[in-house]
Amino acid sequence: MRREELLHHVILLGKAFSARGMDQHLRDLRVYYLALRHGLTSNKLQLNWSEAFVIEWMKMLRVPPFENSYPVLARGEPCPRCPSTAGSSVSTDCVFPGGARMRCQNCGCEWLEHEAPTWVQRHS
Ligand SMILES: [Zn+2]
Repeated sequence: MRREELLHHVILLGKAFSARGMDQHLRDLRVYYLALRHGLTSNKLQLNWSEAFVIEWMKMLRVPPFENSYPVLARGEPCPRCPSTAGSSVSTDCVFPGGARMRCQNCGCEWLEHEAPTWVQRHS
């Protein structure tokens, strides 16, 4: 991915973090953004962020153009590939405000559980 494109993605992801009040992630992402902008990401900085990490978060928070990367299921739904295995084989990989990334231990399939988006558009 070109750096300009990744920078653009980082900005979009930052907005998604901000909308959910994910302040720590937003701070980390800002450091990554600056490092990226100045071409410092190849240095051995203690950066826990990478292009892959940015893309993964965009997939999880369904930020375009990655909004359809994972299937989205209702909370407690069984694995879409092997529904007969029921909830016992489903684990929560990652939790974030408004949802979670789930994984089937049986087939390795991953999907998202998204709650009703109360974090969007807080009109007062
Ligand atoms: Zn499965």
